This record gives sequence, C-alpha cells and structure tokens, in this order.
Amino acid sequence: MKLWTAALDLLFPPKCPFCRKVLDAPQDPVCPACQSSLPWLTGQYALRPVEFTNGCLSPLAYRDSVRQAVHRYKFSGVRAYARPFGVLMAQCVRDNLSQPFDAVTWVPLSRRRLQQRGYDQAKLLARTVAAELSLPLQATLVKYRDTPAQSSLDSAAARQANTRGVYRLLPGGPSLKGQNFLLADDVVTSGATLSACAGLLLQNGAQTVFCVTFAQARPGPDVQNPNIPERNAGKFKE
Ligand SMILES: [Zn+2]
Repeated sequence: MKLWTAALDLLFPPKCPFCRKVLDAPQDPVCPACQSSLPWLTGQYALRPVEFTNGCLSPLAYRDSVRQAVHRYKFSGVRAYARPFGVLMAQCVRDNLSQPFDAVTWVPLSRRRLQQRGYDQAKLLARTVAAELSLPLQATLVKYRDTPAQSSLDSAAARQANTRGVYRLLPGGPSLKGQNFLLADDVVTSGATLSACAGLLLQNGAQTVFCVTFAQARPGPDVQNPNIPERNAGKFKE
C-alpha cells in the first residue's frame, strides 16, 4: 500500500490545496507559504456557538483562498482535498479540546446530490478526522430531501426553516445512547444545519455533540466578503 501511495505521489505529486503548488513535503496538509498567510482562527475565534451543541470548532475563516479551495472540493470534484482539510480539522480539535469522543459522524447529503457529486464531501472529511483522532466513523443521519443551498439564503430564520424536517435518523442504525459525538461538516455559517442534525442526535439518545467544520463563514452579507474575524467578533449572535 505504501509503495502504491509512493508511486501515485510520483505520478500526481500532492499539491497545496490553497495555492496549488507542489508540496515539498507530500504529507503536509498545506505549504509553508500558505501556513503563514491563511486566515487561521485561534482561541475564541475558532469556536462558534451552535444551538443543541457544545460549540463548533473551525481551523479557518471562509474567505479568499480558503473559500476557493472549498469550492474546488465541493463543486469541481477535487475530492483529494478531503485528506488535507480533514487533517487540519483534526489538528484544530486536538489543539482546542481535551474531552473524549465516542465517534465521528457527519451532516449527510441527499441521495440525489450524492449521485450528482459522486461523493459526500462531509463524510470524506469525517473519515479523515476519525482516522486522525483514532475514533470510529459512524453514520447516523440521512437527508431526505433537497433544499436550496444554505449559502444562498441570507437570514438566519430562512436558514433555520430550510433545514426543518430535512434530516432524519438513519433507519436501522446503531444505538446512539450515551454517545459523545463529533459532528463534521465542510463550512459553518449560521449553524442551522448543524443544530438541526445535533438536535436529532440528542433526541435519539446521544449525550453530547461537538461540531467541527473546515471553515467558518459569517452569515448574511458578510459571507461574500467577510471581514477578518477579530474585527467582526461579536457582530453576529447565533
Ligand atoms: Zn500553498
């Protein structure tokens, strides 16, 4: 397997997901230049309150090259970004939380969207996070119908209404009783999707839910051009 990976690396050398230059260290999730220039979120800025959860951690602000990289991951089929993105998410969890988790789960795609895209981007992130943190990956939820993309809706109320009744518990899935979940998704904006999913997990016996996303966006007009989180802190109330 290692030989195969090495051969693939020779043929398709891993690139930095943000500037797309070939990485000198193929195992690194990001090149040194981007490491020092990306909009990292640290301390309180990495944590966003989300209803029904103990919070949502994200290593990066959703803007500039981070936003472009997420678009390539979600809409241009670059599924290989699941590894570097997931590694950065796991690092963020390790850096900020000491509490133990029982399993990693994710915000699922609808079947139709999955067929269109060919992969569930949040599931691939969750899989990397689970592997990095040595936790089991557990499918818990299904998305029953398609809704307009959360990013197309401006108000928190519209985002909340958009998620109502959309997710359900996976039929025949394992018991959630007493489980402490890490719930993964790509981007958090208002947190409406994550809180809908977390609420379902708690209703069905889960003990706690902590969320982790790759990037954190500001809801409303700031989504298109978010300010630096420090300057914007406190403006948005969940
Ligand atoms: Zn780079």
